[in-house]
Amino acid sequence: MEEIVCKLLIIGAGPGGYVCAIRAGQLGIDTVIVERGKLGGSCLNVGCIPSKAIIHVAEEYEVLTTAAAGKSAFGLTAASPKIDLAKAVAWKDEIVHRLNLGVSGLLRKGRVKILHGQARFRDGKTVVVDTEIGSTLVRAEAVVIASGSAPVALPFLPFGGDVISSTDALSLGEVPKRLAVVGGGYIGLELGTAFAKLGSKVTVVEALPRILPLYDQDLTTPVAKHLHELGVEVLTGATARGVAAGALRIETADGQARKIAADKILVTVGRAPATAELGLEELVLDMDGRFIRIGERCETSMRGVYAIGDVTGEPMLAHRAMAQGEMVAEIVAGLPRAWDKRCIPAICFTDPEIVSAGLSPDEARAAGFDIRVGQFPFSANGRAMSRHGERGFIRVVAESERNLVLGIQAVGQGVSELSAAFGLAIEMGATLEDIAGTIHAHPTLGEALQEASLKALGHALHI
Ligand code: FAD
Ligand code: NAD
Repeated sequence: MEEIVCKLLIIGAGPGGYVCAIRAGQLGIDTVIVERGKLGGSCLNVGCIPSKAIIHVAEEYEVLTTAAAGKSAFGLTAASPKIDLAKAVAWKDEIVHRLNLGVSGLLRKGRVKILHGQARFRDGKTVVVDTEIGSTLVRAEAVVIASGSAPVALPFLPFGGDVISSTDALSLGEVPKRLAVVGGGYIGLELGTAFAKLGSKVTVVEALPRILPLYDQDLTTPVAKHLHELGVEVLTGATARGVAAGALRIETADGQARKIAADKILVTVGRAPATAELGLEELVLDMDGRFIRIGERCETSMRGVYAIGDVTGEPMLAHRAMAQGEMVAEIVAGLPRAWDKRCIPAICFTDPEIVSAGLSPDEARAAGFDIRVGQFPFSANGRAMSRHGERGFIRVVAESERNLVLGIQAVGQGVSELSAAFGLAIEMGATLEDIAGTIHAHPTLGEALQEASLKALGHALHI
């Protein structure tokens, strides 16, 4: 068997693994990365990027169909718009391909050795990689497990045929006439909204009493309203029970059995860590349920073995995985680092979008803070109005003694791009006065952040 000796071995080239490898390369660490699929992992190939591409296509199509229906608020007209989904998927695949090449180029620039194959631990310092042309034994001083996650399947609704995962949904040849979505979380609602705009009759089945339970109800209500306007039926407190010919069988909140006719059934009930084929039984790792337990340096219970990204649990977000990857590379290089982030912003790319950074009012109170909250509606923001996006608001949560900002949330069209400002304010330890005293360019959605801060201070200007 071929043998490679290196300082750092990374298993998985998703956002966690490839960022770790790029930073390690910059630091001159002799690094090997193993990937059994495509460079970029779930995020780049079947997650963040392709889903946002399809969401964009759906938004463009919605503008045309609204105009064609004579419902454009500002006089647009269009005649019989059509969508060629196969062409849209090909456009999405081209973006993914360009990004695959980008990651490959960045890894090569950092002199990272890429092994295409399946990695399996022999012990904490030795991994066997099965490639197309044979097996390679890699001995490393440090190993990073960045193997990510995969969609959870329901035993009574296994993937196959018309029961599809998010991966399948992103590569359909045509828009399903009727789409049943099981799970009203991130993926179910992002993709459910997109398919509703593309013309599917969408029904969402969510087991809990409301959609997007991760976010507070003030943030999710505008999303629920717009789903209703799009004709999406949302059944909360309902559970999927199985599949019948051309239909999803469910139990509704009041205990009734019901069949939902569907051409495709999209199951999006969470993601599970991808650990099954890693040979973890050869190691002695403390686990946190199904996830790998880590400390504040992403260290596992075995010296020299680190874990980052989705395999370490919630929040399963690409930017968290990347930040962990960058940190671990620096730790392996001997730099003094530990996880010291104040917040990991989260965005749901529904319509309207939701952003949450730091603590919500309820979370801040539960953490023992005495708080003041300022909320400013987009209905009083000129930029939002001129984009036909009056729905939603920005909310600032600050502790009331020093006015230190603890959290910022927003719901509204295009608010995802404000997440950088929200995260920066919290990381920099901004106070309400800092945000209120910063000139925010006019006309922008960001002015609502300044106004929300002014409102918390008791003197908003435009409301
Ligand atoms: P992954 O990206 O899952 O990468 C792990 C890699 O490891 C994979 O390429 C896998 O092939 C490889 N691997 C696993 N085991 C082995 C092995 N034994 N040997 C070799 N290779 C192995 N997050 C956001 O922040 N924003 C979004 O908008 C967003 N949208 C999403 C939309 C969808 C539809 C989905 C499914 C996910 C989305 N996510 C989003 C979540 C995001 O994709 C993940 O949080 C992120 O990919 C996690 O990165 P990772 O590096 O931990 O793992
Ligand atoms: P999720 O955890 O966001 O939502 C799953 C939903 O399914 C929950 O609301 C849950 O109550 C419901 N559910 C579970 N079992 C059910 C059942 N039997 N019947 C009906 N409902 C059921 O999971 P997801 O949407 O699959 O996404 C997985 C992960 O991917 C997310 O947690 C997130 O970390 C990541 N993601 C992030 C983004 C983003 O950042 N914009 C987008 C997509 C995915």
